[in-house]
Amino acid sequence: MESFSRLIATPSVSSIDPLLDLGNREIIELLADWLADLGFRIELMTIPEYPKKLNLIACLGSGEGGLVLSGHTDTVPFDDGKWQQDPFTLTERDNRLYGLGSSDMKCFFPLVIDVIRNMDLKKLHQPLYILATADEESTMSGAQALADSGRKLGRYAMIGEPTGLKPVHMHKGIIIESIKLTGQAGHSSNPALGNSALEGMYAVISGLMAWRKKIQQQHTNDQFAVPVPTLNFGSIHGGDNPNRICAECTLIVDIRLMPDMKLEPVRAEMREVISRAVEGSGLVLEVHSVFNGAPSMHTDPGSEIVRLAEKLSGHASGSVAFSTEAPYLNSMGMQTVVFGPGDIDQAHQANEYIAMDRIQPMLDILQKMIGHFCVEENSYAN
Ligand SMILES: [Zn+2]
Repeated sequence: MESFSRLIATPSVSSIDPLLDLGNREIIELLADWLADLGFRIELMTIPEYPKKLNLIACLGSGEGGLVLSGHTDTVPFDDGKWQQDPFTLTERDNRLYGLGSSDMKCFFPLVIDVIRNMDLKKLHQPLYILATADEESTMSGAQALADSGRKLGRYAMIGEPTGLKPVHMHKGIIIESIKLTGQAGHSSNPALGNSALEGMYAVISGLMAWRKKIQQQHTNDQFAVPVPTLNFGSIHGGDNPNRICAECTLIVDIRLMPDMKLEPVRAEMREVISRAVEGSGLVLEVHSVFNGAPSMHTDPGSEIVRLAEKLSGHASGSVAFSTEAPYLNSMGMQTVVFGPGDIDQAHQANEYIAMDRIQPMLDILQKMIGHFCVEENSYAN
């Protein structure tokens, strides 16, 4: 596991906080070297506005179909004081391999490379792509750049995110919106002197709660632990003193979308609800998206790759509560399953680890996936 140690030892934290945000160039260069040695054609894709970050597309073989094995190269930031060992030193203990990003998801690449090294690559009938992306943990700019590029990759994709060796074909999407109302301050003893942003926000919250009820009735899916879209009022700040009319109030909400809900129409509908709530109040309304948003994922559960993942894992495909790059790959014409060896419970935690008994099953799965989609003739016909 020399290659796993090298990846763990190479910091690649991504964060929306510029002080914590690192590039991923070193990781990409390591992967590019290893895959080039195995005969892959290497393409490095720069990410607009992120000069320190790159995507890697490595390809072996050619053809219209084929398989994409995909993962992100970045990790979340870490809390140094809570780690029992150096987060950048892969450490074996109690049949576990500890390290920052071990489960989510640096382990995937050494496993993929190990399988490729031990397969007869001259027999490829369809191309095998290895995709390594930037920035999944912060802005998804890597996946976005890839989707924007209009590139055609394989027909099927597997993302090795930590799903505990169970296949996943859907997850929710995320929107985070900041709503600011500006009114007029004044002495509390005379409401006519001001215009309360806080009271305006009360109307906005009421409107959004009614809207939440409506969308929860419209979009349900029992395959999710929380079978409806959610809207959380996570943060509100407004006013300063009890004896002043509140001139400014800002509310931030987090919305989790079902797979049948798209980012832009939901944003537009929500903004309409907010505008209506403050109509005629004289308050100035500003709404902005705190980040681009993460689309929801839905791959046809009848897709060949989902069915194969079910067969290889012995588990029916389901949903997860976190978001991934899968909707971006699906938008590029792939059919994507999220299916990896780590556990989400360990991800984004101090003392993150991958259990060693996950390694051999994942190696077997990868070998069969590559065999099925790239080696066996006519295997991708439907
Ligand atoms: Zn991840």
